[in-house]
Amino acid sequence: PAGEDVFRMLATSAGGAAKRGEPFVVCRNVQKSYGDRAVLKGIDLTVARGEVVVLLGPSGSGKSTFLRTINHLEPMEWGEITVDGRHVGYVPAPGGGLRSTGGLAKARADARIGMVFQHFNLFAHLSALENVIEAPIRVFGMAPDAARELGLKLLAEVGLSAHADHLPHRLSGGQQQRVAIARALAISPKLMLFDEPTSALDPELVGEVLQVMRKLADAGMTMIVVTHEIRFAREVADRVVFMDEGVIVEQGPPSEVIDDPKQERTRRFLRVME
Ligand code: ADP
Ligand code: MG
Repeated sequence: PAGEDVFRMLATSAGGAAKRGEPFVVCRNVQKSYGDRAVLKGIDLTVARGEVVVLLGPSGSGKSTFLRTINHLEPMEWGEITVDGRHVGYVPAPGGGLRSTGGLAKARADARIGMVFQHFNLFAHLSALENVIEAPIRVFGMAPDAARELGLKLLAEVGLSAHADHLPHRLSGGQQQRVAIARALAISPKLMLFDEPTSALDPELVGEVLQVMRKLADAGMTMIVVTHEIRFAREVADRVVFMDEGVIVEQGPPSEVIDDPKQERTRRFLRVME
Protein backbone atom coordinates (compact mmCIF):
# COMPACT_ATOMS: atom_id res chain seq x y z
CA PRO A 1 0.00 0.00 0.00
CA ALA A 2 1.08 3.56 -0.79
CA GLY A 3 0.91 4.49 2.88
CA GLU A 4 3.48 2.06 4.05
CA ASP A 5 5.93 3.57 1.61
CA VAL A 6 5.66 6.91 3.38
CA PHE A 7 6.75 5.49 6.74
CA ARG A 8 9.53 3.54 5.10
CA MET A 9 10.61 6.54 3.08
CA LEU A 10 10.73 8.64 6.25
CA ALA A 11 12.63 6.01 8.18
CA THR A 12 15.21 5.52 5.48
CA SER A 13 15.60 9.22 4.72
CA ALA A 14 16.59 9.42 8.37
CA GLY A 15 19.89 7.81 7.54
CA GLY A 16 19.54 4.92 5.18
CA ALA A 17 19.55 1.22 5.77
CA ALA A 18 23.31 1.09 5.36
CA LYS A 19 23.78 2.94 8.62
CA ARG A 20 21.28 0.90 10.58
CA GLY A 21 22.68 -0.15 13.89
CA GLU A 22 25.20 2.68 14.15
CA PRO A 23 25.07 4.79 17.33
CA PHE A 24 22.55 7.50 16.63
CA VAL A 25 21.55 9.07 19.93
CA VAL A 26 24.45 9.19 22.35
CA CYS A 27 23.83 10.47 25.89
CA ARG A 28 26.74 10.71 28.28
CA ASN A 29 26.43 11.51 31.95
CA VAL A 30 23.35 13.67 31.49
CA GLN A 31 22.51 15.55 34.66
CA LYS A 32 19.65 17.88 35.36
CA SER A 33 18.10 19.42 38.45
CA TYR A 34 15.07 21.50 39.24
CA GLY A 35 16.29 23.73 42.03
CA ASP A 36 17.81 21.45 44.65
CA ARG A 37 16.17 18.39 43.24
CA ALA A 38 18.39 16.20 41.04
CA VAL A 39 16.10 14.67 38.43
CA LEU A 40 18.60 13.13 36.02
CA LYS A 41 21.64 11.82 37.85
CA GLY A 42 24.06 10.90 35.12
CA ILE A 43 22.22 9.11 32.34
CA ASP A 44 24.31 7.16 29.85
CA LEU A 45 22.35 5.78 26.94
CA THR A 46 23.15 5.02 23.33
CA VAL A 47 20.38 4.33 20.87
CA ALA A 48 21.26 2.81 17.53
CA ARG A 49 19.85 3.91 14.21
CA GLY A 50 16.61 2.07 13.62
CA GLU A 51 16.40 0.91 17.21
CA VAL A 52 13.19 1.07 19.26
CA VAL A 53 13.85 1.74 22.93
CA VAL A 54 11.03 1.63 25.45
CA LEU A 55 11.66 3.62 28.60
CA LEU A 56 9.84 2.32 31.66
CA GLY A 57 9.78 3.72 35.14
CA PRO A 58 7.58 4.96 37.95
CA SER A 59 6.02 8.38 37.88
CA GLY A 60 8.56 11.04 38.79
CA SER A 61 11.60 8.98 37.77
CA GLY A 62 12.66 11.56 35.17
CA LYS A 63 11.45 9.96 31.93
CA SER A 64 9.73 13.04 30.55
CA THR A 65 12.59 15.28 31.60
CA PHE A 66 15.01 13.00 29.79
CA LEU A 67 12.97 13.05 26.56
CA ARG A 68 12.59 16.82 26.77
CA THR A 69 16.33 17.16 27.25
CA ILE A 70 17.01 15.10 24.13
CA ASN A 71 14.54 17.29 22.29
CA HIS A 72 16.15 20.61 23.34
CA LEU A 73 13.17 21.53 25.45
CA GLU A 74 15.19 21.50 28.68
CA PRO A 75 18.72 22.62 29.32
CA MET A 76 20.90 20.12 31.15
CA GLU A 77 23.52 21.05 33.73
CA TRP A 78 26.10 18.52 32.82
CA GLY A 79 26.75 15.87 30.24
CA GLU A 80 26.54 15.57 26.52
CA ILE A 81 23.93 14.47 24.02
CA THR A 82 24.47 14.00 20.32
CA VAL A 83 21.81 13.04 17.81
CA ASP A 84 23.20 11.89 14.48
CA GLY A 85 26.56 13.33 15.44
CA ARG A 86 25.16 16.78 16.30
CA HIS A 87 25.34 18.22 19.76
CA VAL A 88 21.95 18.88 21.25
CA GLY A 89 22.00 22.56 22.08
CA TYR A 90 24.87 22.45 24.54
CA VAL A 91 28.52 21.47 24.45
CA PRO A 92 31.03 21.09 27.28
CA ALA A 93 32.57 24.45 28.11
CA PRO A 94 36.22 24.93 28.94
CA GLY A 95 36.51 24.98 32.72
CA GLY A 96 33.41 22.89 33.27
CA GLY A 97 29.69 23.09 32.71
CA LEU A 98 28.03 23.57 29.38
CA ARG A 99 27.64 26.35 26.92
CA SER A 100 24.86 26.78 24.42
CA THR A 101 25.71 26.08 20.80
CA GLY A 102 23.53 29.03 19.83
CA GLY A 103 19.98 29.53 18.64
CA LEU A 104 17.93 26.86 20.34
CA ALA A 105 15.04 27.21 17.90
CA LYS A 106 17.40 26.62 15.02
CA ALA A 107 19.10 23.71 16.76
CA ARG A 108 15.67 22.21 17.35
CA ALA A 109 14.66 22.57 13.72
CA ASP A 110 18.01 21.22 12.49
CA ALA A 111 17.84 18.21 14.76
CA ARG A 112 14.62 16.99 13.16
CA ILE A 113 13.29 15.25 16.21
CA GLY A 114 9.58 14.49 16.25
CA MET A 115 7.82 14.32 19.58
CA VAL A 116 4.41 13.05 20.60
CA PHE A 117 3.00 13.91 24.01
CA GLN A 118 0.35 12.44 26.26
CA HIS A 119 -1.89 15.42 25.49
CA PHE A 120 -2.08 15.88 21.76
CA ASN A 121 -2.06 19.69 21.82
CA LEU A 122 -3.44 20.03 18.32
CA PHE A 123 -4.27 23.54 17.16
CA ALA A 124 -8.00 23.68 17.88
CA HIS A 125 -8.80 26.10 15.06
CA LEU A 126 -6.93 24.14 12.37
CA SER A 127 -8.15 21.06 10.51
CA ALA A 128 -6.33 17.75 10.84
CA LEU A 129 -4.48 18.40 7.59
CA GLU A 130 -3.64 22.00 8.53
CA ASN A 131 -2.23 20.75 11.84
CA VAL A 132 0.00 18.31 9.98
CA ILE A 133 1.35 20.79 7.42
CA GLU A 134 1.80 23.78 9.70
CA ALA A 135 5.43 23.08 10.68
CA PRO A 136 6.63 21.95 7.24
CA ILE A 137 5.38 25.21 5.76
CA ARG A 138 6.11 27.67 8.55
CA VAL A 139 9.32 26.24 10.02
CA PHE A 140 10.83 24.46 7.04
CA GLY A 141 9.55 26.64 4.20
CA MET A 142 8.02 23.74 2.32
CA ALA A 143 5.82 24.73 -0.64
CA PRO A 144 2.15 24.52 0.40
CA ASP A 145 1.24 22.11 -2.42
CA ALA A 146 4.04 19.72 -1.57
CA ALA A 147 3.19 19.96 2.13
CA ARG A 148 -0.45 19.19 1.37
CA GLU A 149 0.53 16.16 -0.64
CA LEU A 150 2.79 14.88 2.14
CA GLY A 151 0.15 15.68 4.76
CA LEU A 152 -2.53 13.71 2.93
CA LYS A 153 -0.17 10.73 2.56
CA LEU A 154 0.64 10.82 6.26
CA LEU A 155 -3.02 11.08 7.23
CA ALA A 156 -3.74 8.10 4.97
CA GLU A 157 -0.93 6.24 6.67
CA VAL A 158 -2.43 6.78 10.11
CA GLY A 159 -5.88 5.86 8.82
CA LEU A 160 -7.43 9.33 8.75
CA SER A 161 -7.94 10.17 5.08
CA ALA A 162 -11.62 10.75 5.68
CA HIS A 163 -10.89 13.24 8.46
CA ALA A 164 -8.38 15.56 6.79
CA ASP A 165 -10.72 18.54 6.89
CA HIS A 166 -12.10 17.96 10.36
CA LEU A 167 -11.30 20.15 13.31
CA PRO A 168 -9.80 18.34 16.31
CA HIS A 169 -12.97 18.60 18.41
CA ARG A 170 -14.74 16.37 15.91
CA LEU A 171 -12.14 13.64 16.35
CA SER A 172 -11.86 11.02 19.08
CA GLY A 173 -8.83 11.04 21.34
CA GLY A 174 -7.30 8.17 19.40
CA GLN A 175 -7.82 9.99 16.13
CA GLN A 176 -6.36 13.20 17.55
CA GLN A 177 -3.30 11.34 18.73
CA ARG A 178 -2.88 9.81 15.28
CA VAL A 179 -3.04 13.32 13.81
CA ALA A 180 -0.36 14.31 16.32
CA ILE A 181 1.83 11.43 15.12
CA ALA A 182 1.30 12.46 11.48
CA ARG A 183 2.18 16.03 12.47
CA ALA A 184 5.39 14.90 14.15
CA LEU A 185 6.30 12.85 11.07
CA ALA A 186 5.67 15.74 8.70
CA ILE A 187 9.01 17.33 9.56
CA SER A 188 10.81 14.19 8.30
CA PRO A 189 12.19 13.38 11.74
CA LYS A 190 15.34 11.36 12.19
CA LEU A 191 14.20 10.39 15.63
CA MET A 192 10.75 10.02 17.17
CA LEU A 193 10.13 10.54 20.88
CA PHE A 194 6.86 9.39 22.41
CA ASP A 195 5.94 10.45 25.94
CA GLU A 196 3.10 8.25 27.21
CA PRO A 197 1.17 8.67 23.96
CA THR A 198 -1.72 6.48 25.08
CA SER A 199 -1.99 7.41 28.76
CA ALA A 200 -4.74 9.97 28.23
CA LEU A 201 -6.86 7.72 26.01
CA ASP A 202 -9.89 5.65 26.81
CA PRO A 203 -8.80 1.99 26.83
CA GLU A 204 -10.65 1.15 23.64
CA LEU A 205 -8.68 3.80 21.72
CA VAL A 206 -5.21 2.73 22.84
CA GLY A 207 -4.81 -0.05 20.26
CA GLU A 208 -5.22 2.13 17.18
CA VAL A 209 -2.43 4.43 18.34
CA LEU A 210 -0.09 1.59 19.29
CA GLN A 211 -0.74 0.02 15.90
CA VAL A 212 0.49 3.16 14.11
CA MET A 213 3.57 3.22 16.34
CA ARG A 214 4.24 -0.42 15.64
CA LYS A 215 4.03 0.19 11.89
CA LEU A 216 6.49 3.05 12.22
CA ALA A 217 8.85 0.85 14.22
CA ASP A 218 8.59 -1.86 11.59
CA ALA A 219 9.45 0.70 8.92
CA GLY A 220 12.77 1.27 10.66
CA MET A 221 12.28 4.58 12.46
CA THR A 222 14.53 5.23 15.44
CA MET A 223 12.20 5.63 18.42
CA ILE A 224 12.35 6.25 22.15
CA VAL A 225 8.98 5.48 23.70
CA VAL A 226 7.90 6.15 27.27
CA THR A 227 4.89 3.96 27.91
CA HIS A 228 3.26 1.80 30.51
CA GLU A 229 2.01 -0.59 27.83
CA ILE A 230 4.05 -3.60 28.83
CA ARG A 231 2.73 -5.72 26.00
CA PHE A 232 3.78 -3.13 23.44
CA ALA A 233 7.22 -3.02 25.06
CA ARG A 234 7.53 -6.76 24.94
CA GLU A 235 6.46 -7.01 21.31
CA VAL A 236 7.95 -3.92 19.71
CA ALA A 237 10.98 -2.82 21.73
CA ASP A 238 14.46 -3.87 20.72
CA ARG A 239 15.53 -2.77 24.15
CA VAL A 240 13.80 -1.87 27.38
CA VAL A 241 15.36 0.64 29.72
CA PHE A 242 14.08 0.81 33.28
CA MET A 243 14.63 4.12 35.01
CA ASP A 244 14.05 5.07 38.62
CA GLU A 245 14.91 8.22 40.55
CA GLY A 246 16.96 9.69 37.75
CA VAL A 247 19.16 6.71 37.00
CA ILE A 248 19.00 3.78 34.62
CA VAL A 249 18.53 0.78 36.87
CA GLU A 250 18.53 -1.93 34.26
CA GLN A 251 18.37 -2.33 30.49
CA GLY A 252 18.30 -5.07 27.92
CA PRO A 253 16.01 -6.94 25.57
CA PRO A 254 12.38 -7.24 26.73
CA SER A 255 12.89 -10.95 27.33
CA GLU A 256 15.35 -10.02 30.06
CA VAL A 257 14.13 -6.76 31.56
CA ILE A 258 10.42 -7.56 31.47
CA ASP A 259 10.35 -11.30 31.75
CA ASP A 260 13.41 -11.90 33.88
CA PRO A 261 14.43 -8.65 35.61
CA LYS A 262 17.63 -8.74 37.62
CA GLN A 263 16.99 -5.78 39.87
CA GLU A 264 14.54 -5.77 42.74
CA ARG A 265 13.38 -2.24 41.83
CA THR A 266 12.47 -3.42 38.34
CA ARG A 267 10.61 -6.42 39.72
CA ARG A 268 8.65 -4.27 42.12
CA PHE A 269 7.66 -1.88 39.33
CA LEU A 270 6.57 -4.65 36.98
CA ARG A 271 4.52 -6.36 39.68
CA VAL A 272 2.46 -3.21 40.02
CA MET A 273 2.13 -2.74 36.26
CA GLU A 274 0.93 -6.17 35.22
P1 ADP B 1 8.34 11.09 34.81
O1 ADP B 1 8.10 11.53 33.42
O2 ADP B 1 9.21 9.88 34.91
O3 ADP B 1 7.07 10.92 35.58
P2 ADP B 1 9.38 13.75 35.18
O4 ADP B 1 10.55 13.87 34.28
O5 ADP B 1 8.11 14.37 34.71
O6 ADP B 1 9.16 12.22 35.56
O7 ADP B 1 9.71 14.38 36.57
C1 ADP B 1 10.83 14.02 37.33
C2 ADP B 1 10.89 14.88 38.57
O8 ADP B 1 11.13 16.23 38.19
C3 ADP B 1 9.60 14.89 39.37
O9 ADP B 1 9.93 14.93 40.72
C4 ADP B 1 8.93 16.18 38.97
O10 ADP B 1 8.13 16.67 40.00
C5 ADP B 1 10.12 17.08 38.70
N1 ADP B 1 9.83 18.07 37.66
C6 ADP B 1 9.48 17.81 36.39
N2 ADP B 1 9.33 18.93 35.69
C7 ADP B 1 9.57 19.95 36.53
C8 ADP B 1 9.58 21.38 36.41
N3 ADP B 1 9.32 21.97 35.25
N4 ADP B 1 9.89 22.10 37.52
C9 ADP B 1 10.18 21.49 38.67
N5 ADP B 1 10.20 20.16 38.87
C10 ADP B 1 9.89 19.40 37.82
MG1 MG C 1 6.33 11.74 32.35
